[in-house]
Amino acid sequence: MLTVGLRAGPLAEPVPAPTPLPTATPLPIATMPPSPTPAPTETAVLAPSPASGAAGRTVCIDPGHGGADRGNVRLDEDGQILLQEKDFTLPHSLMLADRLRAAGIDVVMTRTTDAEVNPDNTDLNNDGTVAPAGGEARSNQLDDLQARINICNQAGADILVSVHYNGAENAFLQGYEVWYNGDRPFSENSALLARLMHTELGNQYAAAGYDAFDKGIGIEAHALTGPARPGSLVPSEMPGIIVEGLFLSNDDDAAFVVTDAAAPALVTAYEQAILNYFAELTG
Ligand SMILES: [Zn+2]
Repeated sequence: MLTVGLRAGPLAEPVPAPTPLPTATPLPIATMPPSPTPAPTETAVLAPSPASGAAGRTVCIDPGHGGADRGNVRLDEDGQILLQEKDFTLPHSLMLADRLRAAGIDVVMTRTTDAEVNPDNTDLNNDGTVAPAGGEARSNQLDDLQARINICNQAGADILVSVHYNGAENAFLQGYEVWYNGDRPFSENSALLARLMHTELGNQYAAAGYDAFDKGIGIEAHALTGPARPGSLVPSEMPGIIVEGLFLSNDDDAAFVVTDAAAPALVTAYEQAILNYFAELTG
C-alpha cells in the first residue's frame, strides 16, 4: 500500500476558460423591403454547427468504480485515505455528460451516484460464479463489467468511454494513457477515438499548465471493451476506450489532480475528443 504523503503542489497556473461549446451560427435576419402587403414568413434554417456530426449520437460514459469499490486509493502516512479514484471519475463523468448533452448528444451513464453498478453481486453473465458473499464488488469482476456493458448495449450507444485514474505501487509511474482493444470488428474506430483522446489530453494538460507525462496509447485485452468470452461475457457492441487520466500514486500527478484546473482540463479533453471523433466520422 502506498503511504507517501501528498506533497504540496506547485502553484496552479491561471486556468484557461474551457473551450466554449460550438453553437449554431445565428443567421442574419433578412431585411425585408417595405411592402404594403404582408411578407411571407421565412423559416430560419440553422447553419450546420461544428458539432453537427455529434447531434443525435449516443455516448455511454462509464465512471470507473463506485460504492465499496474505491478504485485506486492514495493513503497518507497513517493509512488514511487522501485520494480515491471513484471521487474523481463520477464528478468528471457528470460534468462531461452535461457538456455532451449541450452539444446534442444523447448520454447514458453506467452509474450516476457513488454506488456499485451491480451492488447485489448478481450473476449477470450467467457463468455460475459471483463475487464472494459480503465481499466488495470490484470493477475487475466480470459481473460488474457485464452490468456496465449491458447498460451501454441496451442504449445502443455509438461509443463507450470509461473514465479512470491510475495508481501503482511504484510511485514514480506517472502520466496519462488511453487503451483500446485491437480485436474487435470496430477496432479501427476505437483506435481513432483513442488517438483523438490521447491528443486532447496532452493539449488540455498543457493548456492548464501541467506538463503531464505521455504514456501513450495501449492495446489491451480488458473485458469491458474486449471480445466475447464464451460462457462468461457478452461483449460491448461499440467502439470503446479506457482512459487513465493520471496516477493518483504519483506526487506530481496527484498535486495537479487536486487543483481546480484539473477537472476542467480532463473534461474538456474528453468532450473535445468525442466531438472530434464524430466530426471525423461525418467527414
Ligand atoms: Zn480505475
